[in-house]
Amino acid sequence: MKHRALSAPASALWICPTCGARLIARNLWHSCGRFTLASLFRGARPGVLKLAREYVRMLHSLGNVQVLPQKTRLVCVARVRFGGLSPRKTGFLAAFALRRWIDSPRIVKKVDYGPRWRAHFVAVQSQDDLDDELRAWLQESHDTVGVQDDLRRPVGRTVP
Ligand SMILES: [Zn+2]
Repeated sequence: MKHRALSAPASALWICPTCGARLIARNLWHSCGRFTLASLFRGARPGVLKLAREYVRMLHSLGNVQVLPQKTRLVCVARVRFGGLSPRKTGFLAAFALRRWIDSPRIVKKVDYGPRWRAHFVAVQSQDDLDDELRAWLQESHDTVGVQDDLRRPVGRTVP
């Protein structure tokens, strides 16, 4: 018999019993705990892993999030994925999605996945890059894309 969707509400999350990852569908493919932050930064210059750990602490401070290292990147999930990082030799790219575009020289790359998922990337190479501005962008990302704020405010309904 093929896998069949359970009768759970469409909005319910499924928690992988093996690694604890939050997934939007049961048995969705995921890396299932095989990767670590350290494995992502194998070969990076000294100090980069420490910087990445600090960034991960920042991610955890945003709310109830999960930080999941994968093969080539790390993703951060609240209700859904909203950010993460991609390792570079001398640091990493901090990634986060917003509903809007930020215009700042710190944004080294943007990727348009549509109006609900506008990806921004900031190069992090030193302690100074993990500043209040970056944290505020990450918080906005968590509070909008991460928690799917648009699902809580259906179109046409007025929010007091
Ligand atoms: Zn798993």
